[in-house]
Amino acid sequence: MVANRWNENESKNLVAEAGDDPADQALAVQAYASRLLGADMTLVQHGGGNTSCKVTRKDLFGADISVLHIKGSGHDLAMIDAAGMPAVRLEPLLALRSLDGLSDADMVNIVRCNMLDASGPNPSVEILLHAYLPHAHINHTHATVMLAIADLPNAAEVVQEIFGGKVGVVPFYMPGFDLGKAAAEVYEAAPDVEGLLLLNHGHFTFANDAKTAYDLMITHVNMVKDWLERKCGKVLKPSGPVDHAMEARAIDLMPVLRGILGERRAEFLENRDASMPVMDLRAGENVQEFFARPDVEELAKRGVATPDHVIRTKNFPLVLNARILAGGNDAIAAAVDRYIADYTDYFTRNNTRVGGGKTQLSPVPDVAWIEGVGIIGMGADATEARIAADLAEQNIAAMSNGEDCGGFYPVDEQDLFDMEYWSLEQAKLPSRNYPRFAGHVVLVTGGGGAIGLATAQAFADLGANIFLVDLGEDALTKALTALGPDHDGIALDITADGAAGKAVNACVARFGGIDVLVSNAGAAWTGEMIGLDDALLRKSFELNFFAHQTFSKAVAQVFQVQNRGGQLLYNVSKQAVNPGKGFGAYGLPKAATFFLLRQLALELGPMGVRVNGINADRIRSGLLDDDFIKERAKARGIDEGTYMAGNLIRREVEARHVADAFVALALAERTTAHVMTVDGGNIEAALR
Ligand SMILES: [Zn+2]
Repeated sequence: MVANRWNENESKNLVAEAGDDPADQALAVQAYASRLLGADMTLVQHGGGNTSCKVTRKDLFGADISVLHIKGSGHDLAMIDAAGMPAVRLEPLLALRSLDGLSDADMVNIVRCNMLDASGPNPSVEILLHAYLPHAHINHTHATVMLAIADLPNAAEVVQEIFGGKVGVVPFYMPGFDLGKAAAEVYEAAPDVEGLLLLNHGHFTFANDAKTAYDLMITHVNMVKDWLERKCGKVLKPSGPVDHAMEARAIDLMPVLRGILGERRAEFLENRDASMPVMDLRAGENVQEFFARPDVEELAKRGVATPDHVIRTKNFPLVLNARILAGGNDAIAAAVDRYIADYTDYFTRNNTRVGGGKTQLSPVPDVAWIEGVGIIGMGADATEARIAADLAEQNIAAMSNGEDCGGFYPVDEQDLFDMEYWSLEQAKLPSRNYPRFAGHVVLVTGGGGAIGLATAQAFADLGANIFLVDLGEDALTKALTALGPDHDGIALDITADGAAGKAVNACVARFGGIDVLVSNAGAAWTGEMIGLDDALLRKSFELNFFAHQTFSKAVAQVFQVQNRGGQLLYNVSKQAVNPGKGFGAYGLPKAATFFLLRQLALELGPMGVRVNGINADRIRSGLLDDDFIKERAKARGIDEGTYMAGNLIRREVEARHVADAFVALALAERTTAHVMTVDGGNIEAALR
């Protein structure tokens, strides 16, 4: 059952907060209904769906005008507020209906010209459908179970059986003028209907108040769910926790696939250094149940439940069955090449049909169905990968429910191509000018500390997805909260046996691979060598040398499988070249790490892996805390500020300066075996 989440008190409070104007009140309550719909993934996925309300407002001269508020394109219903629902004058939209045809460009232009606030977001491309229905409150979703019946060969009959004339059926048209007109005609022929099913597309409900329109949406969806359950016995669950055996296989397989896809993408973009896709694995009970079907390979060729998905998932998944997997990497690469050839043919065929003016999108798949492994969503970053994976899960649910209840027959290739290469649909995607590190997975050890988190943030600001490793669960949680969604991490002791493998596997399971290791964690133990406890020195070596080595090894093994280069970055220390009295226990392993950096640069260079490091000094952090600074400053007879700025340029060096240096090294695409000094200038510690 889809829950009805309406809370009358909450709705009343929102109306009260909206002020005295009934138009603002109606808009506030419609935005509330929209958020409730958007919060349920079985109803609305990632920017899909749209809602509207019609109100009367005054123009500058005090005259009443009819206005349609509708979701702004690109806004997410789950978070929408009044500002996300721009107002458009209704009369000019209604006048358009007398035209025989209207181009998308003209529609967008006229809509924009009639917005009450010229700076508002572009109204949804489904605006004319909302305008031509007379109801004050309208909801449109692509609920999973609705898609299952929208793609049935006898959808109209089924709608009649379930709703007995209460829901109209609209044939498939691209969103825009034609769909708006067609829907209005269906409604006007049966004005008692309380909703519309748009074949191969989605569902509308409407009423003159927001609550009734919302209630109808929930009721309709549950009626369809009941019917599917009665008809086919069960409805596929939307998602579930990842199965561990499948995840273990995915950890081996994802870097292989990622490397192959990265290479094909680089070839397509003609950029040798182009990034690989980020991946999002789904291997819950729903996926296992789906893979157990005998018709999986046949269903893979059917297409997407609603054309809304196509810009995120493409029409077909890459299918890797047990036979292909048994053939090893060459067989996987051959399957990818077949996919790319098919997509390229599809593009060429349809581009010719429409006159040849389109530019081909990347032919690399966005979704993979991998037998025994799971369903993988892929994209230019973890957000895109997550969206592709969510939609892929929705698609298998709609697909299997539909197929078991009469047949899953989504829109044909031509309509789908028109949708995929439709400029208004493309406009929903974030700018294709991705930030510099989009597609880069960066693993940072000591990620909860000052330098680690500043470095993670600097990479994240440039589009990277971060995997943090930190000893403390609390520090990790805090750091991940600071980074925001689509980053992840693990809390463990990096000096423990097998810790590097565990952390690297967790990162691969989460994002599909790794691009950059920032081997940062460290700690200083002090004492002069002559009295130094052997056990303490060994402990320091475990953290300040061996952890760097074990993480390098584990990450470089992933680099080897991906076969697309990679980067190792170390937080070395000026101690590695410029000993400080009493800091032997810290400097010795750091000197070994400094040597490790050069050794790895030599050995991994032919694989395209770059290895660089930072020699930082006197950074306020867990290692150099306030008490320690106080003590050092006092020992030298100077104040703390002077102590912290004790360098050539007389300025304190902060964690963010170290972070910038790590980023600079990562950006220096032809630099390896380099150590950059970040200490404000210290001639004794200068490398050259
Ligand atoms: Zn739609």
